[in-house]
Amino acid sequence: MAYITLNKQNFLKNLEIIAKKTKDKDKIALVLKDNAYGHGLDIISSLASEFGIKKAVVKDEDEADKIKEKFEYILILSDKPKNPQKNYYYTINDINEINNFKSGVNVELKVDSGMHRNGISFDELELAFEKIKQKNLNLCGVFSHHGCADELSPVWFTQEQSFKEIVKTSKDLAKKYGYNLHFHIDNSASLFRRDKMIYDFARVGIAAYGCLEFEKDFIKPPLKPVLSLWAKKISSRKLNKGDRVGYGGTFTAKKDMVVSNYDIGYGDGFLRILSNNYQTPDGYKIAGRVSMDNSSFITDEDEILVFDDARAVAVYANTISYEVLTSLKKKIPRILLD
Ligand SMILES: *Cc1c(COP(=O)(O)O)cnc(C)c1O
Repeated sequence: MAYITLNKQNFLKNLEIIAKKTKDKDKIALVLKDNAYGHGLDIISSLASEFGIKKAVVKDEDEADKIKEKFEYILILSDKPKNPQKNYYYTINDINEINNFKSGVNVELKVDSGMHRNGISFDELELAFEKIKQKNLNLCGVFSHHGCADELSPVWFTQEQSFKEIVKTSKDLAKKYGYNLHFHIDNSASLFRRDKMIYDFARVGIAAYGCLEFEKDFIKPPLKPVLSLWAKKISSRKLNKGDRVGYGGTFTAKKDMVVSNYDIGYGDGFLRILSNNYQTPDGYKIAGRVSMDNSSFITDEDEILVFDDARAVAVYANTISYEVLTSLKKKIPRILLD
C-alpha cells in the first residue's frame, strides 16, 4: 500500500524557526485545517501541542472537536456553533451572520482589508460591534487576511495600511462596548516578510509544513518539507519499442524498456494532470496516464519515493503545494519518523 512518512525533526525544526520569528510560542496559531494540510490531524496536532503550541486554527467544528483537548484556543474559520466549547472561537465573516450565532459564544470578527473574499467592510465596523453587543456574543478578536503576502505586490502595503485603520477603530469601539481584543493578520508569508511582528499572533500553516514559497527577492527561512509520499510496486513488464502504456495508450516506448506499475493514483490524491509529466526525486518518469489507483513509472524498484517536496510536484501540475498536499486522501497511512 502507498504510504506517507512525516519527518518529525523537520516539523519541530520548522516550529523552532517560526517561534524564533514570533519570539514566543504563544504567538503562533498553527493552522490545522484540511487534515493539517494533508499531513494528518492527529499526529501533527499532538506534535505541535507537545512542542508547546497553544493556539490552533481550523475550518469547522468537526476539526475542532478532534483537537479540543490539545489547545487552549481554537479559531474556527467558517462554521456556526453547534456544540460550542470554552476554547472555541467562531469567525464572523459577514455582518448578516451575527444574528445566527448563539449568545454567549466566543467570536472573532473578520474584516476585509482588501482581499475581498471574506469579512465585513470597514464601514460596517461600528454596526457589527453594536449587533455583537446586542446578541451578547463574547467578541475576543478582530482579524484580516493578506491576499498577496508572497508576492512583490503593492496590495500588501495597502492591506497593511487598511488593517492599521481597522485596528485603530476597533480599539476605540472595544473601549466603548467593553471588549478586550487581540488582533492578527499574518499568515506564513506575511510573518516572514516582516522584520518583526506587530500583531498579537500569526496564523501559520504552510511554513510549519516546510513548503513556504516566496518570490526570489525575499529572504527564505531554512524551512524543510515534512511530508513524503511512497508507493509500492504492483507489477513490472518489459516493453518492446513501440508498445503503449495505460489508458488511451498515451505513452509509447521509444526503445525496449521496463516499466512498473505502482499503487498510487488520482483516487489517492495523486493528481491526474501529472500524466506523462512528472519525474520523481530519484529521476523515475511517469509513463502514460495516472489511473485511479495506480500509475506506471519507468523503473523496476519495489518501492518508489513519489515526492518529498510538494513544491516540486506543484511545478509539474501547474498548481501550489497546498493543493498537492491537501489532495492526499485520509485513507493513506501516515507514519511518523523520528
Ligand atoms: C489557511 C489560512 C491561513 C494559513 O495560511 P498559510 O499561507 O498556510 O500560512 C491563515 N489564515 C487564514 C484565514 C487561512 O484561511
